[in-house]
Amino acid sequence: MTQDHAGAAQAGRKTQILVAGAGSTGIAAALAFARSGLRVTLAGRFPPPLPGRTVALFESSVRFLEALGALPRVKEKACPIEAIRMIDDTGQLLPTPDLTLRASEIDLPALGVNISNDELVEALLEVARERAAFEIVDADIPDYVFDGDGAVALLADGRKIEADFVVAADGRQSRARAIAGVDTQEWTYPQVALTMLLSHEEPHDNISTEFHTRSGPFTLVPLRGREDAPHRSSLVWLMSVADASRRLAKPREELEFELEDRAHGRFGAMKIEGGIGQFRMGGMRVSHHAIGRVALVGETCHVFPPIGAQGLNLSLRDVADLEDCLASVDLTNPRELAPALARYDRHRRADIGFRTLGVDILNRSLIIPHLPVDLMRGAGFLAMTALGPLRRAVIREGVLPHFLLPRLMQGKPPRAERSRRRSVRAS
Ligand SMILES: Cc1cc2nc3c(=O)[nH]c(=O)nc-3n(C[C@H](O)[C@H](O)[C@H](O)COP(=O)(O)OP(=O)(O)OC[C@H]3O[C@@H](n4cnc5c(N)ncnc54)[C@H](O)[C@@H]3O)c2cc1C
Repeated sequence: MTQDHAGAAQAGRKTQILVAGAGSTGIAAALAFARSGLRVTLAGRFPPPLPGRTVALFESSVRFLEALGALPRVKEKACPIEAIRMIDDTGQLLPTPDLTLRASEIDLPALGVNISNDELVEALLEVARERAAFEIVDADIPDYVFDGDGAVALLADGRKIEADFVVAADGRQSRARAIAGVDTQEWTYPQVALTMLLSHEEPHDNISTEFHTRSGPFTLVPLRGREDAPHRSSLVWLMSVADASRRLAKPREELEFELEDRAHGRFGAMKIEGGIGQFRMGGMRVSHHAIGRVALVGETCHVFPPIGAQGLNLSLRDVADLEDCLASVDLTNPRELAPALARYDRHRRADIGFRTLGVDILNRSLIIPHLPVDLMRGAGFLAMTALGPLRRAVIREGVLPHFLLPRLMQGKPPRAERSRRRSVRAS
């Protein structure tokens, strides 16, 4: 998909913000900065279709999508998640009771929504096209030149885009990150996630159900029904590499029986719709979240397993936080830019560090069959089942984190005019 307006890339004009990477994080970033009055160019390869992949977006992300004007489009294709049910299926010595976290406990109609990745990208692009608020360039960006005055992106087709500032949203293997000189630390888990969309006999009641097993979670997230398939869910299933190969080699029908068994028959017979995705589990963190004229957002600066549906929610928080930190900043003035980026780096380090550690601990506590670890996990679940205030605090922290929640996620009315006058005048 290409929508090249007579914009910066064609006219050789400098753009204020170049968003590199056209996945959901990048498109959301372009919408956010264009909304705040900046001249924005979104350049990147559009993501390939992701088989069976959906994203659960929680209340803070829903509020952000609303601020971007994208929520109605997303809601047309999404299913509300009203509760999350966690079931210990590890077979540990002291089984813990099921734990259900309900939106109604914190006075919300839903904890969030679940939507396929492909439909989310499509919905965000539809909003971007309708608004024509920024230039969209469908191109690979293999190289950049960064200097004190800004950045030049060198596109694979020979074009150049000059920018005051680059928001790098070009994913896990980010070129922008590498060329800016940000170091990464990567690690792997002995797991693969299989993803698929399922139709089933029994209703999901808008509840996401996580079975915690010894190979990792088996999570069914509610999907919007169709006339021919009223009860649908998406599945994220973590398992060893060998088990993934074995299951992928099975006839579909056999795999569908196994799925029904794994879900303890709660959803009745299951049918797999379309392709099955497989994703090797790993983690990544970065040395800096911003450097010089570049800020990193989304999977350019954090990767971890899909446990607790944190990845894209965190990515959208990166974007909303960056937008906050850069408000009122003259992007051409290093004296204003440097402290704003230092603030962004501090915020992201805390938020991303906390989520990465939480997911890592929960994942390892499942796959390492060690009694004291099982007891601690079980005690945590029991405490949450028994103590209402603790449970509500956990629900709130998961869907609407109170610490450093960026303004665009607070559900406040939009700020009338951002004070970017000097930056706009200077360009
Ligand atoms: C199995 C699974 C389930 C998940 N479930 C959830 C969930 O329920 N909730 C949640 O919040 N998160 C979830 N996540 C995480 C979430 O899907 C990711 O965090 C998110 O999709 C990453 O989006 P992104 O835009 O940052 O990166 P990407 O989607 O990787 O986008 C990067 C874009 O940059 C482009 N690009 C790359 N290099 C270049 C280049 N050199 N030049 C130009 N363009 C380039 C790519 O083509 C792509 O379009 C899940 C992840 C997995 C693996």
